[in-house]
Parts: sequence; C-alpha cells; structure tokens
Amino acid sequence: MGDATRIVIIGGGPGGYVAAIRAAQRGADVTVVEKDLLGGTCLNRGCIPTKSLLGSVEALHKARSGSEFGFSVAGEIVPDFTRMMERKNEIAKTLRDGVGVLFKKNRVKLVKGHGRLAGPGKVEAVTEEGTQTLEADTTIIATGSEPARLPFFDFDQPTVLTSTSALELTEIPETLLVIGAGVIGCEFASVFSELGTKITMVEMMPQMLPLEDKRLAKQFQGIFKKKGIEVLLKTKVDGIAEYASDHITANIEGGQQITAEKMLVSIGRQPNTQGIGLDTLGVETDGRGYIKVNDKLETNVKNVYAIGDVNGGILLAHVASYEGLVAVENCLGGSQERDLHVVPSCIYTLPEIASVGLTEDQARDEGYEPVTGTFRLGAAGKALAIGEAQGYIQIIADQKTDKVIGANMMGPHVTDLIHEIAVAVRNGLTVREVGDTIHAHPTIGEALMEAAHDVHGESVHVAS
Ligand code: FAD
Repeated sequence: MGDATRIVIIGGGPGGYVAAIRAAQRGADVTVVEKDLLGGTCLNRGCIPTKSLLGSVEALHKARSGSEFGFSVAGEIVPDFTRMMERKNEIAKTLRDGVGVLFKKNRVKLVKGHGRLAGPGKVEAVTEEGTQTLEADTTIIATGSEPARLPFFDFDQPTVLTSTSALELTEIPETLLVIGAGVIGCEFASVFSELGTKITMVEMMPQMLPLEDKRLAKQFQGIFKKKGIEVLLKTKVDGIAEYASDHITANIEGGQQITAEKMLVSIGRQPNTQGIGLDTLGVETDGRGYIKVNDKLETNVKNVYAIGDVNGGILLAHVASYEGLVAVENCLGGSQERDLHVVPSCIYTLPEIASVGLTEDQARDEGYEPVTGTFRLGAAGKALAIGEAQGYIQIIADQKTDKVIGANMMGPHVTDLIHEIAVAVRNGLTVREVGDTIHAHPTIGEALMEAAHDVHGESVHVAS
C-alpha cells in the first residue's frame, strides 16, 4: 500500500462504510474510525430496526385476518414483544457483522474510538487503549445525526422517548403521544397501533407527512383514523404539565392537555458535530450546525469531505451511501457532482407510501403543465388477492413533453415499485414509454402501467 491514497473516514454508518469499501476497491489505504457500532443509525437505531418491527406487526396483522383469508388459529394471537425486539436485534447484528466481513475482505482498517480532526492531514482517534494519530491524504466526515431534542422536554425522564429509546422499550405502552407526524413518527405509530397502543399524534403543520403530496397525506390520515390513531394537525405542544413515573401530561397550545404512558418526540434530527475538531481546521457549518459542502461533497477545507446526514442534505441512508461513492470518486482525483434530483422517498407504514420527483403542486410551481394518471388498488387483482387493496398509484407527467416527472404511491410494495419511476424520471422517459412496457399480471406493477395509460385517458381498467 506504499503510494496508495490514505483516506480516513470518521463514522461507519451507511455513508462512511460504503465510502470505505468503495475507496478500498479502488486501491486506497482506508481507515474508518467508529466510536460505536458499525452500520450507524441505519443498521442499529433507524432503518433496519424499524423495518424489522414493522415486519413483525405485518405478520401479526395477517395472522389476525384469518377470517378474511379463510383460516382460523386455535387460541388468541398475542404479540410477543420481547421476541420482536430480539428479532430486530438479531437482524441488525447479522447486517452489522456483514459489514465487518466486507471490511476484512476489502482490507479496510477499523479503529474503534472517537474520531476528531487534529490538524491538516491528521485525525485523532481516542480509543480505550489511548489516542492514536492517523495520517490522512483525505478525510471524510460521516458522523451522521441524532434525534433533535427540544429544550423544553426533559429527555432524562423515562416517559420521554426519542426514536432511539423507543427501539429499546421492554413493554408495549398502553398509550403513546407522538410529537411530530413526519416519517419517523408515522412509522412508529404504525408499529405500536398494531400492537394495541392507543396513539395520539400532534403535528404543527397543516398536513401529516408534510413533504408528501397533500391528497395522499389526507387519504393516509383517514387510514390512520380507521385504525384509531388520532392526528391533531396545526397543533403545538407548548410544555409539559407533569412528568410522573408512569405517565406524562403535555400542554397543548390553546389549553388542552394530553396524558399518555409515553411520549415519543420525533421532530427531526441534529448533526453529530460536537467534539470532532471542526474548529481545529476551520470547517464551516450552516446556521443549523450541519457541515457546509459543495456538490463535490468538499467542505471549505481542502481534502476534507462531509457526506450523509452530517451535511444536512437529504437525511436518508441511500443518500448517505450515494454521497459516499461520489466523495470517493473525488478523493481519488475525479470530479463528480452529486445529483439529488431523483431521490426516492419511502415511508414504511401500513400501507406503505413512496414518492419520487415532483408532486402535482410542485410541478405547477416549477412552471410545468402537469397532467396526472391514477389507478386505485381496489381495482388491481393482485392487491385484492393479497388483501391489501388500500391506496393508489399516481403518475405526474409534463403535458408538453409527455415526460414522467414524478409519482406518488400508497399500497403494498410501493417502496420497491417506486424505482421504476425513478429510472423513468432520471432518464427522461415518457409516460407512453412506461405505459407501453409490458407489465406482468397480476402485480402491483401493472397498476403503475394503468396509471401511465390513465395520463392519456386510456386506462382499460379505470371505471369512471
Ligand atoms: P449515521 O448512520 O448516523 O452514522 C454515523 C456514524 O458515525 C455512527 O455510527 C456514529 O456512531 C459515528 N460517529 C459519530 N461521531 C463520531 C466520532 N466523533 N467518531 C467516530 N464515530 C463517530 N433512512 C432511510 O433511507 N430509510 C429508512 O427507512 C430510514 N428509517 C429511519 C428510521 C429511524 C427511526 C431513523 C432515526 C432514521 C431513519 N433513516 C432512514 C435515516 C438514516 O438512518 C440516516 O439517514 C442514515 O443512517 C445516515 O447515514 P450516515 O452514515 O450519514 O450517518
């Protein structure tokens, strides 16, 4: 490895570990400094644990739907929360160990400790054995983020949960107040409502899932309502009236109070930039504390890059990994710019939600003449066959060019299906090209084909 470029990466989440493996594949001499568990938030406190729990409650839901599907189960079907949590931990461990194996296979060195910039071309790792100084031609900061904490909540109280502590619960709460009806709040609400928890969600914006299409969010709210989840929009919690050992009472603006066994605060994230030596080199951050980068993922300091959540772009695992690949190209002499125009957004609730590109309103705001095509899953054979016919597929196209510019979807497997539209938007495919592609029957994918036909008013199966 004599003349190999030395790359030190601080943080081994999906940004850092993907960058590390790619850089090693390209012949670099790579060291990752990770203070906790490989896989970061995604494998240990985010994507994978939440989806594992969702997998459990989906199975539970199906098991309870026996009368619809035509079977009966002797005895009562009850969740085994301890086993669900164990299963979630086992899945995370399998994946984490897999990253460790990939590190070994690719000769990525792992230093377990707290990393910080210590001067030009120097990273210090504070480990249990002492402090190590690592020489780096290039440093990539990939330290991620953690749950944002509102100052007027006492997070030391056992009744106040973040997404991290909610994943460590040992018992199912009877009641749960969720502050923030964004993606994370809705995913937890989906899990716990299937487990029998009575949930109230408080959201200050006028719609839940504020970044999604408003029609979709409204329909989704109706589905939550049917499940017994109460969603209070344009509502703010403005303090806590009581922290007790077994409940919490929150004050709602306007005088109302809500009492619940636990309160989950899911109001966003904050960057992990404390104690990582940004001042030592003068690395600039923005007003919210995220590290400023250009489209090559370079910070203002030469040979220091920042990828993933810590740069405050789009806080998703697949974006962190993509940015890792872009940064590595540039560390090794390339000149690649990140392109975040087509990023699938997936929400793993019951039913799932997915979107990519522009919503109809955004398209209009950007000067397009949007036309849409929709197909309801209630008319899709596969959706009926698997007993998941709630939802729809909507495609948004530009009337002038017929190009696909976005899609919104709600229903089974839409978090997989969305990639077809991502490919279409990224490559400028027309609705005609998507619709003329033969889609297998019966699949949820053929509902997408019908939605494409519907853009031209030609869906065979739409009954209007
Ligand atoms: P992280 O994953 O946060 O990793 C950063 C790593 O750096 C951590 O391991 C940390 O220990 C380490 N670190 C920090 N500081 C130091 C230091 N000084 N020295 C050494 N190591 C350090 N995204 C999706 O795309 N899909 C999902 O379904 C999804 N679900 C989510 C569910 C929840 C509940 C949460 C909280 C997040 C979810 N996300 C999801 C977001 C996703 O987890 C993050 O966007 C992603 O993990 C960011 O990757 P990263 O590598 O930038 O940072």
